[in-house]
Amino acid sequence: MDKKSKKFLKEYLGNASPTGHETKGQELWLDYIMPYVDEWHTDVYGTAYAIINPGKKYRVAIESHADEISWYVNYISDKGNIHVIRNGGSDQTIAASRRVNIHTPKGIVRGVFGWPAIHVRKGKDANLAPTLENIFIDVGANNKKEVEELGIHVGCVITYDDGYEEINKKCFIGRALDNRLGGYCIAEVARQLHEEKIKLPYSLYIVNSVQEEVGLHGAQMIAQTIRPDVAIVTDVTHDTSTPD
Ligand SMILES: [Zn+2]
Repeated sequence: MDKKSKKFLKEYLGNASPTGHETKGQELWLDYIMPYVDEWHTDVYGTAYAIINPGKKYRVAIESHADEISWYVNYISDKGNIHVIRNGGSDQTIAASRRVNIHTPKGIVRGVFGWPAIHVRKGKDANLAPTLENIFIDVGANNKKEVEELGIHVGCVITYDDGYEEINKKCFIGRALDNRLGGYCIAEVARQLHEEKIKLPYSLYIVNSVQEEVGLHGAQMIAQTIRPDVAIVTDVTHDTSTPD
């Protein structure tokens, strides 16, 4: 991976792109691939796609999804605790103690997921498991009014703040590798085709779809526009070398 590719990947991974709020990530992605493609477009839902060699009868699409799972503010209690629901398949069992960014009209508000301490989980609560009902976010406010004064309202999206990091000089860790790595890979295809001056006998559509995490909606919608003859879709999968 050369310097330019790595800079893009770091920037792309560092930006939050929750389902329904993919615009900034799409801008980063389009900015990177624009010099390598003949055309680019967005649809009204926010899906971005670029075309190499447009106008050919045979159309090939390579695709990734631009969005990531997150949480929504669902309810603010009188005591100022924020209760959440999922935006995509977020896992409440790994939420406790995680630091979060709440995306508000006034900008990012920091918070942390709360959870009863081990000392107080006794008796009937000994095997208490995190559920959507009993996890909450603390933003350091004493009541609902203080939470609202920070700009937080029902419907704000919430992401973790985990950044990009390389471990053991060969592995990446970070938030939303699902599916920034797909977006990165298809962008690199455009770059390599351009730099190696490869001429394709077909039109290549490079597609970064929105709303995958809530039901593959972006891909379904853009397929009607592009109507490709064949599509190759990238996404992450599970590491089967780890326990369970
Ligand atoms: Zn995915």
